[in-house]
Amino acid sequence: GSLPSPERVKALLEEAHDRYRDLDDGAVADYIPSLGRADPGLFGLSICGVRGQSASTGDAALRFSIQSISKVFVFALVCHALGHAEVSRRVGVNNTGLPFNSVMAIELSDGDPRNPLVNAGAITTTGLAPGATAAEKWTFIQDGLSRFAGHPLELDDEVYASEAATNQRNMAIARLLQSYGRIDVDPIETTDVYTKQCSLLVSTEDLAVMAATLANGGTNPVTREQVIDAAVCRDTLAVMATSGLYEFSGDWLFEVGVPGKSGVSGGIITVAPGKGGLGTFSPRLDPAGNSVRGQRAARFLSHALGLDVFASK
Ligand code: GLU
Repeated sequence: GSLPSPERVKALLEEAHDRYRDLDDGAVADYIPSLGRADPGLFGLSICGVRGQSASTGDAALRFSIQSISKVFVFALVCHALGHAEVSRRVGVNNTGLPFNSVMAIELSDGDPRNPLVNAGAITTTGLAPGATAAEKWTFIQDGLSRFAGHPLELDDEVYASEAATNQRNMAIARLLQSYGRIDVDPIETTDVYTKQCSLLVSTEDLAVMAATLANGGTNPVTREQVIDAAVCRDTLAVMATSGLYEFSGDWLFEVGVPGKSGVSGGIITVAPGKGGLGTFSPRLDPAGNSVRGQRAARFLSHALGLDVFASK
């Protein structure tokens, strides 16, 4: 199956925006100081199909820092470089049931980073990126995420500076992983590259194309570039299905029925394999860190567009 007609898709996006634009449950993230200044009223929705057809509504061109959604794409790129077996051995692919920046999750498992979508596993994955130095790893990551988006992605200097000044917990996580022998590169430099990857600027239009690349076996449907291979794409979606929405990953899969990934600035990607990708943005978050309006819009659109991978008809 594919997406309904462009007119129908556009009408449903607008309906989703109308339905949830006045929902003001949740709170803007406050633990990275500069994220706390986001306008809670912002709400953008974009969709991109596997043939490159796209539609947007609301604040879809506005840029925000990608935050944890970067973890998906860095994992995909590193998985592409190292292979399925190596990343599953070194990073792991199981849900923690604990917050994304949990130290306890590491301690409970004798140093296992658990999965690439929590901070411990994400920092481990960033450290595995090809490159002899942190600068080379950063270039690999920035170039790779830009290929998913189809154009060069820039750093939000203010968000980066704000998080770099306050990311003691992530540095502690990286040091702890080092103490368990799980990171063999410099933990502080690696945390810095991780902080930069989280500070890359994207719009929902970008997120939709990035998500559609994952829906399309790794080929960007707009530029036609093969960014990763189809097997890596499939591995990435499997990890998103188990761990994409923090402690509410089960609720997400139950309600939406396709892989997704959220970030604390308010973005979410939703990937319908073989069909397309959705990018949403709205800064008010639920207690786990997921955009409230984004989740509601994704659920509505998944049902209305027939995206659910578990639905038999
Ligand atoms: N840069 C954030 C951190 O590492 C990302 C958090 C998130 O979006 O989950 O704490």
